[in-house]
Amino acid sequence: MQKLRIALGFSIAFIAVWIAAFTYIKFFPENPFPDYTKDVGKVSIVATIYPLAWLASDLDPSATITTIVGPGIEPHDFSPTIDDGKTMEDAELLIVNRMVDEWVMDAIADRKGQTVSVMEMLGFPSLEDPHVWLDPILAQQIVKDIGHQLEIFDPTNTEIIRENVLKKITILQGIDDRYRLGLASCSIPEIVSSHDAFGFLAKRYGFTVHSIAGLSPEDEPSPSKLVELTDLIRSHHITTVFFEELASPALAKTLADETGAKTDVLDAIESLSSEESERLEYPGIMEKNLAKLKAAMVCTE
Ligand SMILES: [Zn+2]
Repeated sequence: MQKLRIALGFSIAFIAVWIAAFTYIKFFPENPFPDYTKDVGKVSIVATIYPLAWLASDLDPSATITTIVGPGIEPHDFSPTIDDGKTMEDAELLIVNRMVDEWVMDAIADRKGQTVSVMEMLGFPSLEDPHVWLDPILAQQIVKDIGHQLEIFDPTNTEIIRENVLKKITILQGIDDRYRLGLASCSIPEIVSSHDAFGFLAKRYGFTVHSIAGLSPEDEPSPSKLVELTDLIRSHHITTVFFEELASPALAKTLADETGAKTDVLDAIESLSSEESERLEYPGIMEKNLAKLKAAMVCTE
């Protein structure tokens, strides 16, 4: 009798296990234990230029970021390789400026994935000046938009993406605060720069930039433009002619020699141009630029 009870107990338990398993499989036919490790490195982000890669960085912990234009390379006249073209084509999320990197348009003609075009996103589809990343307020807009795109690609990380977007916006707001304060009161609110990269920055903080070349560093100024700049530097007592590490300093030096002004480097952060800039990254380079602008424009806080 005892043995019969034990046998009956086992049978009931056995049947119960089968019913439970059958019910589970019926109602949860998919993999019941999703493998979350598969999500690591899920979103592949490709940015054409360094500043956009920096703005997209550290937002989604499961994203990888690749930059097409490497350190020390000037992006205006860059030519992507076949491999670069493939990298851009295969990216899940491609972030482009669309003007400083006009070469991207051919490379992505057949692309099916999502593309964020920063100039279009900011509402400047036909504006010629592409250097929007130098304005920390516009940069905040870019971060927000990239954050929204990442939430669509990676909804499991929505909360952490939003937190990281806020952290990055706080960094950019800090830069804006320091520029506002640092450039509020300047005796000579004018500079000369080699290529016309600082228009957005100047407009945001209320100073004037006279450029030697045009919006691209390859644009050559006319002789009459150089005479005009020489007169302007003298009559407005402009102290500094800025040039960039990735462009030739020859014309800036000639103008400075002619007028008695100084020369200095102002970084347009189009790519990382030196070991120091690689260490400083976007926020550090912005701070370094601010110190140079304050000195050049004779600003007091
Ligand atoms: Zn430029």
